[in-house]
Amino acid sequence: MAAGGRGLYGRDEIRKIDAHAHVGEFGSWCGVGITAEGMAAEMALYGIERAIVSYPDNRVALDAQKSFPGTLHALAWMNPTLPSAADEFRRLAGEGLVAGLKLHPLFDAYTANDECVFPLMEEAAARDLPVFVHSGHPPFSLPWSIGQLAEEFPKARVVMVHMGHGHGVYIQAAIDTARRIPNIWLENSGMPMHTKTREAYLRVGSGRIFWGSDVPFHHYAVEILRTEVSGLGRSQLEDVFHGNITRFMGW
Ligand SMILES: [Zn+2]
Repeated sequence: MAAGGRGLYGRDEIRKIDAHAHVGEFGSWCGVGITAEGMAAEMALYGIERAIVSYPDNRVALDAQKSFPGTLHALAWMNPTLPSAADEFRRLAGEGLVAGLKLHPLFDAYTANDECVFPLMEEAAARDLPVFVHSGHPPFSLPWSIGQLAEEFPKARVVMVHMGHGHGVYIQAAIDTARRIPNIWLENSGMPMHTKTREAYLRVGSGRIFWGSDVPFHHYAVEILRTEVSGLGRSQLEDVFHGNITRFMGW
């Protein structure tokens, strides 16, 4: 183990970009939260260069991005069940304020492939903005529904966040769905089976899996270590930790 390391590798040995995290306070059953300042400090501690962040109230993520330009990148978290969603997303995207669209079918209570999502998907696809979709919770955010959404919009680039999350059957479905549908990418935060990151890399594609933390729901140390022990070699880990997301986001 390298000196000063926060995992098997030293903190600066493999560059890291966090493809999925949240700023702000999440109450109710979640009971977690982090400020933009807190996140930037933790990122420095763990050698993480950039993070893609979102929050249900977009002003929180946009403020974080403003405070840490080039480090924190805001997604537009849109609730498609609200009639104003498409217009609001068009405004945010049109002003160049957001790096992509975030959909959270679990929190906002709609199925991932519901028709209410379509106007947002059309807008994201037209602007080539990636769509990050929470996965892993029935009945709203299952891999099969996200697959149907991606198939409905083949020009949209869909990231299946958590790649099935905590359920082995959903994790397998995430890999199988992404293998079958070329406009799906996988992100591995909060996904407990370390071996599945390697499996996704080998079976879905070396360019189609990203590392993420889902801070503050999970901890950087745990999320980093789980990917480090996935069984991938050093150059493969570089793809997962930073190379793939850098290319995907066009940074
Ligand atoms: Zn999340």
